[in-house]
Amino acid sequence: MASKCQLCQEIFSSRKKLVTHERIKHRNNKIIPHRNSLIQPLLEQITFYQDAFIVLVKKRLGFNRHSIGTKQVSIHAFPENIFVFLFENEPSFRYSPVQQKYSCFFQGEAGEQRLKQLVNYDNWNVRQDPKLKTIGYVLFMDNESSYGVNFSWTQTELKENERIFQCGTVTCKFTADSGEFAQQ
Ligand SMILES: [Zn+2]
Repeated sequence: MASKCQLCQEIFSSRKKLVTHERIKHRNNKIIPHRNSLIQPLLEQITFYQDAFIVLVKKRLGFNRHSIGTKQVSIHAFPENIFVFLFENEPSFRYSPVQQKYSCFFQGEAGEQRLKQLVNYDNWNVRQDPKLKTIGYVLFMDNESSYGVNFSWTQTELKENERIFQCGTVTCKFTADSGEFAQQ
């Protein structure tokens, strides 16, 4: 089955070749060919998913050695237009039409500040335990290096009885750390 690149209209003999083409020729693509079909989300919807994200991230933050390291949260049935609305103006925003996949990342202190704006809550990445005087937090900077938070959105399709069913999932990967109150 022939596959056409939605970005430059070149035709390939297989989907696999198109995937390779896209990865090489359109690595930094930001164009969403079907952008016009994505409606502007309501403020209530945006808030709903921002809040869900904050709750899930905070659940992954803790105060012991198991709370440190690479963490991941996923939200299933996450609408595509919400992801696009939140991230499409970011410098690191990317889209792969053939894989129906978006990605965006935030690095270091600038990334931390930007995400506070995008999720509309300054303390989204910190959880406190007043009794133990410790905090768990999403790590962006330490003495040696900077760390990133990666978002991706992918679509899963199910074809059955001549219908196509779609489900978007957003996944966020980050590094968690914990420490004492006074350090922050
Ligand atoms: Zn192309």
